[in-house]
Amino acid sequence: MCKQANFIVVLCLICQTAVAQKHVHGEGLLLIAQEQQQWQFEFVLPAADLLGFEHMPETLEQKQQVSTMINKIENVEAMIKLPASCQSVSTSHSLAAFVVANQTFAHSHEHTDIRVTYIFDCKESPSFAEASILNSLDSLNRVNAQWITNDQQGAVQLTPSSNVVRFAK
Ligand SMILES: [Zn+2]
Repeated sequence: MCKQANFIVVLCLICQTAVAQKHVHGEGLLLIAQEQQQWQFEFVLPAADLLGFEHMPETLEQKQQVSTMINKIENVEAMIKLPASCQSVSTSHSLAAFVVANQTFAHSHEHTDIRVTYIFDCKESPSFAEASILNSLDSLNRVNAQWITNDQQGAVQLTPSSNVVRFAK
């Protein structure tokens, strides 16, 4: 619990920019925070890019798209790659809300973002993080990455042809 709370504090240092990010299809956000050996990578992505729709799945086909995407998200390497000194320790996402009946989504015509969070345990601080998600989602063109680590902070715009965040030594 303490670790989670610390991550929230760290992420709130950059959350003003995060909140300012508009919901634009084809564009996502990647928030990176370090808490000692643990590195958190949180994607905020339009549901339209993950699923092709932003409402509750109505047809069998849409329900299958949700479970296909959950499988993809749980395949960590397809989303984010780090050096071998980092081991994935947990994956969480807000897609589950699409599977369970949820009034908010069912009757909402608003846009929906999906949050996907990966936590890695890193014996050595990684020198890079590759957002491989940019090559596995056809419609995603851009991911604005922002990071705060123990000794640096920065931001970079990632695209399918330039999808690597490099952390300064
Ligand atoms: Zn939308």
